[in-house]
Amino acid sequence: MILAANRTHNFSAGPAALPTEVLQQAQAELLDYKGSGMSVMEMSHRGKVFMDLAHEVEQDLRDLMSIPANYKVLFLQGGGKGEFSFIPLNLLRGKARADYVNTGLWSTGAIKEAAKYCEVATIASSEDKNFTYVPAENSWKPNRDAAFRHICTNETVHGVEYFSIPKIDDEVPLVADMSSHILSRPMDVSRFGCLYAGAQKNIGPSGLTLVIVRDDLLGHAHPLTPSVFDYTQQAKSDWMLNTPPTFAVYLAGLTFKWLMRQGGVAGIGVVNAHKAKLLYDAIDSSNGFYQNHVTPADRSQMNVVFFLGNETQNAAFLEGALASGLAGLKGHKAVGGMRASIYNAVSLTAVEALVAYMKAFAAKF
Ligand SMILES: *Cc1c(COP(=O)(O)O)cnc(C)c1O
Repeated sequence: MILAANRTHNFSAGPAALPTEVLQQAQAELLDYKGSGMSVMEMSHRGKVFMDLAHEVEQDLRDLMSIPANYKVLFLQGGGKGEFSFIPLNLLRGKARADYVNTGLWSTGAIKEAAKYCEVATIASSEDKNFTYVPAENSWKPNRDAAFRHICTNETVHGVEYFSIPKIDDEVPLVADMSSHILSRPMDVSRFGCLYAGAQKNIGPSGLTLVIVRDDLLGHAHPLTPSVFDYTQQAKSDWMLNTPPTFAVYLAGLTFKWLMRQGGVAGIGVVNAHKAKLLYDAIDSSNGFYQNHVTPADRSQMNVVFFLGNETQNAAFLEGALASGLAGLKGHKAVGGMRASIYNAVSLTAVEALVAYMKAFAAKF
């Protein structure tokens, strides 16, 4: 048994930290899941043991997110990036155009991929200021004939988050890439036509992709959509048209149970807000030693991007951090600097340790 005390404070953007309790439970059940005499990863996805598990995992997610009954929950593969293609394939429904808001690297990627399938209207963008804010909704130029309207509600690379859901009053369904902040606080699923997330940021291991889609949008996938990525076909077969990533589903389920023990999304939301405030306060009170360029109201609670005022100290900062048991702080290459990803599984203790290190490092120079 590996001691939990040996675990480093992991600020990786993804794949990312999982709760230690979850990994310990997986370890304890690895060879013999609930008396079945085998590991979850060795059993048929069509057998009763796994089917029971799958139903419970889905129900727990429905409870955690208060997902209305007219939404399908699908546990698929292909990653967040796969959804950049599967969204237009499933949701264009014969229409020629879709609206996209561009707030950073991930929405840019979604736009590029969607342009293979339809005319993309970029109805708002924050590229003019290096993706440091969410464009005000009254500046958007929405199209009423768009098949859907796509946003990325947390830009993992740029550290920009939507704290309110767009309210545009038309029939165009809102679609959101929530990969890096799903389950981080309460969110009203009923305001979306569809939302999706790769699991490896805030849910579980990589290899699992979550799609939540409203019933009435199903049934119109493009005929060339691969069956395993056709939401309608997957919904009809309870997301078991082919073998789902069974072990990843199991681990996601353990994370959902853990999240319930933290008081659900409301409980973890309070902790997440506190963690983010500690870190942004440390940056803002450093007299420019550390800097963050995101408009304060749009600063992500999950991905805190910051720069050293003197960038020649970057290597020393990262080296010292690692020596202090703080890993994964290097910023994305598109942006540079530092990034602390403080997902649900990153504890308040870890954030406090990071803040203490940042203060000590600044004091030394
Ligand atoms: C990580 C991430 C993705 C890409 O996920 P993959 O599973 O690597 O394809 C897409 N969107 C956002 C917002 C992300 O953070």
